[in-house]
Amino acid sequence: MGIVKGLKDLNKALDKPQAGGGESSKAKWVKLDDAESVKIRFLQELDPDSPEYNDKLGLGFIAVEHTNPKDYRRKALCTMEDQGKCWGCEQHRKDYKAGWKGRSRLYINVLVDDGKEEPYVAILSQGSSGKTVTPTLIEYAGEMGSITNLMWRIKRTGTKTDTSYTIIPLAKDEEKFDTSSLELYKLEEVAIRDLPYANQESFFLGEGGQEESDATSSNVDW
Ligand SMILES: [Zn+2]
Repeated sequence: MGIVKGLKDLNKALDKPQAGGGESSKAKWVKLDDAESVKIRFLQELDPDSPEYNDKLGLGFIAVEHTNPKDYRRKALCTMEDQGKCWGCEQHRKDYKAGWKGRSRLYINVLVDDGKEEPYVAILSQGSSGKTVTPTLIEYAGEMGSITNLMWRIKRTGTKTDTSYTIIPLAKDEEKFDTSSLELYKLEEVAIRDLPYANQESFFLGEGGQEESDATSSNVDW
């Protein structure tokens, strides 16, 4: 990243593991292989009106994003609403079959219990189609009022473009789960990329180099 300025970024740079794994070093993501399932606990609600909503933990959210159809790592927020213009939307208008359409994606902090290592905090990222857990989760939240007061099991089936995810609710908590020792990811900072319009074209077309383009773990538009 060249020059690092300011204490916050300096500390971040120091804390960053040096290993060049390529995958985002800024956050852990929920990753499943074909036929794998894990238990998860949502650490954030989807709605501030939920009786279980915790202001400190905040909310999971859905972001509308454009992705370069030729490079899934070049993904950034649709800025039509915030900035009144959006380079991705322009590409979509030019050729609506080219793959630039803005798509919704859920981002939310979860605690993963894979039965192998200590439960850990990770970001769950899911599209919004019927092959993802997003519709089920939203429906459950609407019906039951909370998604954080129980455990879930999430399962992946298939690979690449033939991937789907399912989720089932497990037992409800008998007592309130203690989240006080957990550190959640700041989704706005690590999960998404919000670019000023002036920088969007060069980002999407890759003139700005590859740095920090692994915003999510997925390469498939499910
Ligand atoms: Zn847009």
